[in-house]
Amino acid sequence: MNFKRVLICLALATAVVLSAILLPKNTTSESYDIVMDTNASVSVKSRRSSEVAGNILISAGKLEKQISKTMSGGDLKTVNAEGSGPMDGAGYGVIIDSLELCRMTGGALDIALGSLTDYWNTLKKNPAEPDDDIIDELKGSKYECVTVKDGIVSLEGGALLDLGAVGKGAACDEAYRILNDAKASRAVVSFGGSILFYGKGSFTVGISSPVKGSSDYIATVKTTQGFVSTSGTYERYFDLNGVRYHHILDPVTGYPVQNGLVSVTVFADSGIESDALSTACFVMGLEKGMNFAVSNGYEAVFVDDNNNIYVTEGLRDSVKVTDSSYSIVK
Ligand code: AMP
Ligand code: MG
Repeated sequence: MNFKRVLICLALATAVVLSAILLPKNTTSESYDIVMDTNASVSVKSRRSSEVAGNILISAGKLEKQISKTMSGGDLKTVNAEGSGPMDGAGYGVIIDSLELCRMTGGALDIALGSLTDYWNTLKKNPAEPDDDIIDELKGSKYECVTVKDGIVSLEGGALLDLGAVGKGAACDEAYRILNDAKASRAVVSFGGSILFYGKGSFTVGISSPVKGSSDYIATVKTTQGFVSTSGTYERYFDLNGVRYHHILDPVTGYPVQNGLVSVTVFADSGIESDALSTACFVMGLEKGMNFAVSNGYEAVFVDDNNNIYVTEGLRDSVKVTDSSYSIVK
C-alpha cells in the first residue's frame, strides 16, 4: 500500500468515526398541545427528535391559523368575513383538495356549511330546541358556492367555510412532510380523531368506545404506515329533552345525522382524505358509506348503536374486538 492510499484510508476511517460521534443519534420525543380545539400528541423517533416533534406542532398551529373559522388574523376568517380573499401555502391546498372531496362524496362532505355549524354551535353553548325555519334557510349554502382561482377564494350567496371536517387530517399531512424531510424512523402523530402512523412495521389503532366519558377501546386494528381518522357522535354534542344533537351534519336536512351509526373510521394514504371521508361516510350511512369506501379502495370500520361493528374485507384479519359487548357483523 503506498503512502497516498494509507492517507486516504486514514481520512475515511476518521470521517466514519467523527460522524458516529458528531451526528446526533436516534432518540424518542413526545410532545403534547391543544391544536384546532383538540388534543394533539406527537411521538417521534429520529435524530433531533424533540426539534422534529416541536416543528410538527408549530406547523399544525400555523395551519390552524390559516384555516380556522375563528382565529383573528387568519386567512379563512378574512375570506368568511369579506366573501373573498387570498389564501396561500398549505391552507390554499386544503381548500382545493377539500372541494375535490366534496365533489367525490356527492356533497356528503360540504365545507360551505359554516353558517349552519355556527348555528348549531350557538345551540350547543346555550342548549335550546333547533328552529326548523332557521335551519331551512341556512342549509342552502353548498360547496358549489365556493370558487378558487389564482390564490383567491371567493364565496357566493353568503356561504361560510368550515374546514372542521378536514383540518386535523390536513395537519397530519403537514406532519408527514416534516417527518419525511427529517428522515425520521418512526412516529405516531394525532390531532383529535386523526392519526398518522409513520415508519416501517406495524401499528395498532384503537376504535374508541362511544360511551360518554369513556377512554376505552371497543376494538383494535393492526395497520401499517398511513392515515386513520374517526368521526363519532360522542366527540362533540349536547343533549336536550332526550335527544342527542351531535356535530356531524347532514347537508341535505341541516340536522345532525341520525342513521344509527356512532362512529366511522377510514384508513387512507393522506390525512385530508381519511378525515374528509370519515365524516362523509358517516353522513352517507352504513350501506352507502360502506359501498363508497369499498368502490373507492378505502378500508373502513363502521360502528352502530346496536354494538355492531362492520369492517371492509381488507381489514377482516386485522380487527380484534376488545369489548365483549360488541361483535363484528360478517
Ligand atoms: P369530523 O369530526 O372530522 O367528522 O368533523 C366534524 C366537523 O366538521 C364538525 O364539527 C363541523 O364543524 C364540520 N361538519 C359537520 N358536518 C359536516 C359535513 N357534512 N361536511 C363538512 N363538514 C361538516
Ligand atoms: Mg373529518
